[in-house]
Amino acid sequence: MTLELKNGERTIYCPFCSKYGVKAFYRAPFKGFGKSRGSGVTSTFSTKHNEEYHVLGDCPSCKAKKEEIKKKL
Ligand SMILES: [Zn+2]
Repeated sequence: MTLELKNGERTIYCPFCSKYGVKAFYRAPFKGFGKSRGSGVTSTFSTKHNEEYHVLGDCPSCKAKKEEIKKKL
């Protein structure tokens, strides 16, 4: 069984007060393909996207702002 990483809303731990309760949107890492054109030859290359958290709200415990939480993640 493999752990499936799915995009979706998650509740994460606050990096400031370590309390659970910060709302964030999780974006799973994925691999994509791109095409580059150079000197008449089209070549494909793979691109890697790292996982990301988009913080949706402030911390309800210590009132840290979502912008500050995002910087700390
Ligand atoms: Zn906090």
